[in-house]
Amino acid sequence: MKVLKERIIKDGKIREGNVLKVDAFLNHQLDIELFEQMGEEFKRRFEGKKITKILTIEASGIAIACIAARYFKVPVVFAKKTQTKNIAGDVYTSKVESFTHGKVYDIIVSKEFLRPEDHVLIIDDFLANGKALLGLTKLVQDAGATVVGAGIAIEKGFQDGGKLIRESGIQLESLAIIDAMSVEEGITFRK
Ligand code: 5GP
Repeated sequence: MKVLKERIIKDGKIREGNVLKVDAFLNHQLDIELFEQMGEEFKRRFEGKKITKILTIEASGIAIACIAARYFKVPVVFAKKTQTKNIAGDVYTSKVESFTHGKVYDIIVSKEFLRPEDHVLIIDDFLANGKALLGLTKLVQDAGATVVGAGIAIEKGFQDGGKLIRESGIQLESLAIIDAMSVEEGITFRK
């Protein structure tokens, strides 16, 4: 998606450890007009697919998912991150290793909001090693619901997540795929 790639070039900051900071428009200050264009593009890419719910993960996925939901006209559910040791009761849980912090945490979704009849589109801001996406996928599968696909704003294509998810047969749509990035050479996008 041209407008997103241009924005990454303009405002993205490359940090140590293969981290791209996009606080100016995606992760701290939010460019809602850009989010609307992204929502429209997700809708186009999943046109004709039955989707009853969008699932994302707190915190950064929520805003993108909410704007996208205006185009799909479905509710958004976000998985909550928790460090509670003994999670029991009416929730689905999964473990996710954080790319940016390296810690493992549990994510939970109430069973009330993911039903077997749901057709779920998963949305997130970044795809790196795929842990968040796989954790979210597990929640959907545990609910007996269907994963329709995954919509990602920025995929770092030089990390393993994209390959992993595509090989698992999930329709993965990333609006910008970065094939290489370094402070010296800048950012190279996949064509
Ligand atoms: P994964 O689980 O695919 O390894 O990492 C994806 C998650 O880590 C996303 O939810 C995102 O919040 C965070 N993340 C991974 N890489 C980056 C990055 O380069 N920049 C930012 N801002 N977040 C990232």
